[in-house]
Amino acid sequence: MALVTLKNSAKIDIEIKFLEKLCSYANLPKGSILLVLHDNSLHGKNKQGVCVASQLSYFASEYTEICSCPNSAKWDCCVAIDRKWCLSRDKFPAYFTYLLGHEFGHAYICLSDITLHIHCCLIHDWIRPASKSTIQYAHELPDEQLFDQFGKYLSFKIHGDEKLDYEINVLKEAAEDIEKQHLGIIQKLPPIQKFDGLRKSIVEFSRPYKNELVRYWKKDFEENGSNSLASLISDYDKLFEH
Ligand SMILES: [Zn+2]
Repeated sequence: MALVTLKNSAKIDIEIKFLEKLCSYANLPKGSILLVLHDNSLHGKNKQGVCVASQLSYFASEYTEICSCPNSAKWDCCVAIDRKWCLSRDKFPAYFTYLLGHEFGHAYICLSDITLHIHCCLIHDWIRPASKSTIQYAHELPDEQLFDQFGKYLSFKIHGDEKLDYEINVLKEAAEDIEKQHLGIIQKLPPIQKFDGLRKSIVEFSRPYKNELVRYWKKDFEENGSNSLASLISDYDKLFEH
């Protein structure tokens, strides 16, 4: 099971017992996770949480500061939650657990299969232009949906299976259209405990846009060299094979 270190910059009350329970249900693979409850907003518009793999931190330098440990302890994965959502925990505890669970889903894949994580990131980064905006939002991606389902599973385990739905209904009232749509999807998807078949669903999802994705990856690599995440891939075709 993964070892979780807490960096509670937001200084919210968070019980160790809650984290222990969350970790035992999440059953994360071996490794170390730094959990940052951030005292500011995260980079990127309306980002609620983020997961950075230490092997890829070079590509996420904007998180170096956020994910730094006071005792310079090493971590395999850094999960950070935006201040707004840390401070909303009192009001929306089941949603907070869902959010942590979603990011722990990313961490699960980072710790167990970094290649698959890179694969997912490459699709995230380029699916919108490659699909000519047929796919517009992260919550349409199969891995994101799976992590939503994992977050929902953990929230159900800790808070029962009605609280999250209730809180989401409240959140929907103040949410913008896109977020409202996302919240509706979370409500509909069944909770899931495991990530079997993730690679297969990513391959099937991205295959219709293969030529365009490869074109964008190649272009990014040509323009940015080793600063491009695409530089880590030696055979693009393999990302579309089962
Ligand atoms: Zn995500």
